[in-house]
Amino acid sequence: MTIIRGATTIAHDEITEIREAVRELLVQIENTNGLKRDEILSIVFSSTSDIHSYYPAKAAREAGFETASLFSAMEPEINGGLKLCIRVMLFVEKNIAVHHVYLREAKALRKDISQKMNVAIDGPAGSGKSTIAKRLAEDYKILYLDTGAMYRACALQAVNSGINVESESALYDLMSNLPLDIVYQNGKQITLLDGKDVSDQIREPRISMAASTVSKHKCVRMKMVEKQREIARETSCVLDGRDIGTYVLPDADFKFFLTASADVRAKRRYLELKEKGHDVDYDELKAEIVKRDEQDANREFAPLKQASDAVFIDTSDMTIEEVVAAIKSKIQERI
Ligand code: C5P
Repeated sequence: MTIIRGATTIAHDEITEIREAVRELLVQIENTNGLKRDEILSIVFSSTSDIHSYYPAKAAREAGFETASLFSAMEPEINGGLKLCIRVMLFVEKNIAVHHVYLREAKALRKDISQKMNVAIDGPAGSGKSTIAKRLAEDYKILYLDTGAMYRACALQAVNSGINVESESALYDLMSNLPLDIVYQNGKQITLLDGKDVSDQIREPRISMAASTVSKHKCVRMKMVEKQREIARETSCVLDGRDIGTYVLPDADFKFFLTASADVRAKRRYLELKEKGHDVDYDELKAEIVKRDEQDANREFAPLKQASDAVFIDTSDMTIEEVVAAIKSKIQERI
């Protein structure tokens, strides 16, 4: 069973408007969710108390929703609530990925699904950013952009080309012709260099420190930031990185800064790498993480830093579920 939500508004409390708004809402819910009409078991409507002239359930019946059981109720009057609003809940027989539909003025009720939004998640290595960002993007059905993967790809290209990662001029040349592409397959970000999938290679521990070093250079950052802003301008997305809230998207709709103790972060990375079959030494890994954070936080241009308007979350003693819930509740507070 799947439950789909939706809402719409009318301009005036008139029968023709109610009929049209209900039809439009239901057809859009059907189309967006790929539903067949006979898969809808029941449709429950509620309307604000300023709507008196017609039952939305009757409008649904007239629009051809005849097999589902229909019901309408009136909502209490809420001070400051949206006016002339019709809400709906559809009960569907099969299990599907849900797309809720909010139309007209009701879009304001669900900024997370009906408007473009960018969520910035910054923090040091191992703070849980990528796991959390992926989960949020999945839940909100928006894109996840792992900006660290882009710097890692620059580092891999530099290392493979035998370029000194400290040399600004060599990196400048490399950047002017970097064959980097970010594509998505089944919602997963794939990093391509010269058309070759390097998503696993860029995670190798030898690339982590090199990524931190290449990302100090302004010519590298300018190039990557341009790509990141282009993606964020076009699409709703969750971006994780070091400078998203401070530099890449200072006007991001939502900003979070995650951190955790160095021990916890090193342990998380250790387990993650072990699971992927890498041979890692815990103490070495912890030292690398600490050194990388120090380099990231102390670089001159766009360092790792909490934006003044970001919500700070220490994830040391929190589960993934708890962090996701905390972030979602902060987002819901404002939409
Ligand atoms: O997040 P991840 O550990 O994959 O990032 C690798 C490196 O890329 C970081 O240590 C940091 O130096 C750099 N980076 C950055 N700005 C970002 C994302 C990553 O400088 N927005």
